[in-house]
Amino acid sequence: MSLSLSAEQPDQPADADEGVWLECIECGETFAPFDDVRYTCDDCDGLLEVRYADLPTFDDFEGEGVWRYADALPFEAGVSIQEGATPLYEVPRLEDEIGIEALRIKHEGMNPTGSFKDRGMTVGVKVAKELGVGRLACASTGNTSAALAAYGSRGGMQTLVLLPAGKVAAGKIAQASLHGARILEVDGNFDACLDIVQELAGQGEAYLLNSLNPFRLEGQKTIGLEILEGFLADYDAVPDRIVLPVGNAGNTSALYKAFRELVQAGALDEDDVPKLTGVQAEGAAPMVEAIENGADEVRRWDDVETRATAIRIGNPVNAPKALPGIRETGGTAVAVSDEEITEAQRDIAAEGIGVEPASAASVAGLRKLRAEGIVDDDERVACLTTGHLLKDPDAAAAAGSEPEPVPADTDGVLDHLQE
Ligand SMILES: *Cc1c(COP(=O)(O)O)cnc(C)c1O
Ligand SMILES: [Zn+2]
Repeated sequence: MSLSLSAEQPDQPADADEGVWLECIECGETFAPFDDVRYTCDDCDGLLEVRYADLPTFDDFEGEGVWRYADALPFEAGVSIQEGATPLYEVPRLEDEIGIEALRIKHEGMNPTGSFKDRGMTVGVKVAKELGVGRLACASTGNTSAALAAYGSRGGMQTLVLLPAGKVAAGKIAQASLHGARILEVDGNFDACLDIVQELAGQGEAYLLNSLNPFRLEGQKTIGLEILEGFLADYDAVPDRIVLPVGNAGNTSALYKAFRELVQAGALDEDDVPKLTGVQAEGAAPMVEAIENGADEVRRWDDVETRATAIRIGNPVNAPKALPGIRETGGTAVAVSDEEITEAQRDIAAEGIGVEPASAASVAGLRKLRAEGIVDDDERVACLTTGHLLKDPDAAAAAGSEPEPVPADTDGVLDHLQE
């Protein structure tokens, strides 16, 4: 199986372009990377992955941000707004309270548009330029649309975004709007938006930049590479576990691919690969269901609900890549309630780190798995927080304290403080 951790580095096929090609994860068919627009396999409709004739080791990386990892990407440079190089915060109080050896928070909300989607877009929009397409499109729970709008305008291209009406946080719509995207509000959920935009892309109306697009996941691999380098610098070892929120499972797939490639390059021991641990909201947990049932496929949930709108997804398109990632690394998946998510959002905020609800799911999931004894107290863990607090100001205000009205004089303020 091509997605196994112990898979051999494949031989370069004739259709490779400067050592880069696309391969179907289901049937193994290979394709030239930039000759035609293609999102899935022509033969079996399986998901595609980018393959490289040469894989880098840690010594090959230089510079800062996503493009530090150019040797692990299809290009030397992309359409960039200085994405990546996000903080790997220490959180000593949370670490103590959860009761593990080490806990770090990789805050992807510190990217240019406030989410990790920027890492995928710097590569994906570059590919779009290479292919010579005019209009870019995505379905989005919000953050993908913000990133697409910003990177599309940076690249001088038109952007079209399909959003589920009434289910996108205010900050994200504001971004897509100001960066000049054409915003279509669909009377349906995210999965319905993705069905439509996939059909539009299939008819040649636009170039699709959802995480179904294999090039986006290449950029997102760099989250994993940064976490590993950060832990190696601070602990002289890679983390035992990485906990992350799961929506379409693009990040889960991307991190697994980053680790597989390091193993193939001889830069990481197979036994040292961090356990990928996915967290979903209870109201949108099809991946958790598949992991718990040992199923090979994910069952689509038609009705999904959670205040963590970024992961309000019932049909995770990257499941065929992510399920092997969770299983082969010895990880797991867990569902948390909206109340547990909000509590974690407050606890992360108490360390000075502002994240949106979906992001807090990672810490809520870790807390639950530690309480159940599935995570050991001697583990070193990285939790991924995927988006910034300001993305969803309404959720932040609802989780935080109420403003108190006071009169406009000092005595009145003092009286109020003494009440
Ligand atoms: C997109 C997104 C996710 C989900 O990531 P996947 O790669 O689709 O699993 C989680 N959190 C935030 C804030 C996001 O924007
Ligand atoms: Zn195929």
